[in-house]
Amino acid sequence: MIRILAIAILLVLNGSLLQSQSDKPKLIVGIVVDQMRFDHLYKYQDRFSNGGFKRLIREGFNYKNTHFNYIPTVTAAGHASIYSGTTPSVHGIIGNTWYERSSKQIITNIGDANELIVGTDKLNSYGASPRNLLTSTITDQLRLGTNFRAKVISVSLKDRGAILPGGHTANAAYWHDWKASPGYFVSSSYYMEELPDWVTRFNKQEKSNSYLTDSWSTLYPIDSYKMSAPDDNNYERAIGGKTSATFPYDYKSMRERFKEIGAEFQLIWVSPAGNSLLTEFAIETIKSEKLGTDDITDFINISYSVPDVIGHTYGPQSIEFEDVMLRLDRDIENLLKSLDATVGTGNYSLFLTSDHGSVPVASYLADNQLPAGIANIKKYEIALMGYLNSKYGTNQWIENFDGESVYLNQDLIKQKKLSLSSVQREVADFMITLEEVTGALTASDLQTQSYSYGMNQMLQNGYHTKRSGDVILVFKPGYVQKLDPKITMQKIKGTTHGSGYAYDTHVPLLWFGKSIPKGQSLRKVSVIDIAPSIAQMLNIQYPFGTTGEPLIELFD
Ligand SMILES: [Zn+2]
Repeated sequence: MIRILAIAILLVLNGSLLQSQSDKPKLIVGIVVDQMRFDHLYKYQDRFSNGGFKRLIREGFNYKNTHFNYIPTVTAAGHASIYSGTTPSVHGIIGNTWYERSSKQIITNIGDANELIVGTDKLNSYGASPRNLLTSTITDQLRLGTNFRAKVISVSLKDRGAILPGGHTANAAYWHDWKASPGYFVSSSYYMEELPDWVTRFNKQEKSNSYLTDSWSTLYPIDSYKMSAPDDNNYERAIGGKTSATFPYDYKSMRERFKEIGAEFQLIWVSPAGNSLLTEFAIETIKSEKLGTDDITDFINISYSVPDVIGHTYGPQSIEFEDVMLRLDRDIENLLKSLDATVGTGNYSLFLTSDHGSVPVASYLADNQLPAGIANIKKYEIALMGYLNSKYGTNQWIENFDGESVYLNQDLIKQKKLSLSSVQREVADFMITLEEVTGALTASDLQTQSYSYGMNQMLQNGYHTKRSGDVILVFKPGYVQKLDPKITMQKIKGTTHGSGYAYDTHVPLLWFGKSIPKGQSLRKVSVIDIAPSIAQMLNIQYPFGTTGEPLIELFD
């Protein structure tokens, strides 16, 4: 009797440990808000709606101490890391662009001359694909794990924000092409020969055009924006023919100026309308592709690019940035409402994070007695060239210097029978004597040592043996790299990002929906933990190069 009872209990336990398809979400929604910092969830929350960011926090799980764990914190590396569960040292996306030794050229992360852009009748001279990404992504693993029955679609205004999250096997990635077409969503021949009818129909509505017929004024009376600097200040870049970076932004006249430089529809990237356009497109994607309607879990990535462009133009202290976040909150509310209606409340799981943060504008920091300054790239390059010429004789010792990485002329070093690691050491020791440089690791250091803490570890996580330079630099906090040797502090407008400091690494991580418990954690976690967590939720394999760990609180 006892034995039968024990077997019965065991069977019940076993049953509860096995996951039936009905336990799995019908759709995973990954949201990446480009250049959103952790504190932006709270700074403007008094005026967030109840159904957007605050709903995700209230009903979901909030990792309040989520960081990037590598340098450089830039868009392509961020998107690749979130979706591959590892760092540039493994996935190979070491920047938005990098120097390629074999071709002696700067290449872009998703650039691919073997492909064409699909969906524009204008001549395009560049193509795009995820081929530079060296590992699989969680979206690839979902495709593999379901015998390719799961659908994976990725959308963004930026090409890299769409392509990298979809991995190698996405059914489609779509992004907003302002270069050649009238603001159409396009794709790559990597995925398809022509756009599906529903995308063509969406494009023919010319929504980029209609969004840009009016003007951008603040959502609330402008004098109520108490969390931001006054509208007219010295830290913002005036664009589109305006003499000051102030409201209202009259799209009609700004479009004319953008048109003169062949970028008329890029204006939507510097406007909250770009987030609304992408939200509409994402909702249409879910409906038209019937995502989340059957028993096989599907996946959509939605990457909001506008906050990044607004930050680079006006800085995070601006009313422009605050207003974009308030309006993005409404867009997310609309997206959630649509998901509730189409996929069903409680049938989907969602995470929201960012690809990097941002530093307050350097001139704004300096004016407020905070540490900040300019790291003058040209000055460093000239100083280093002079040093190497005096040490080893005049020659082309440097192949490329992008500010953070020195690529030495390895052929010349070999030809002169010098030791590469010794020359790297010389360069690092010289660079560290420069005022604004606080760290310099050599490729030999990075290949032979194992760093377990701080900036050195972050450099190591961002270093790829085949793609990175010979010496990698770290600058003082608050210092921004500038190419123009004549630039002064007063001329610095808008923000940047890329460092290993908290302003660039600390990002939101919210989970919401099916099987997600309510709660929050202050445990330090990393964005590379997102992909293995999803793998555990779906009982599928981790992406090939995963170095992150599943977020155990989600499974309590
Ligand atoms: Zn970005």
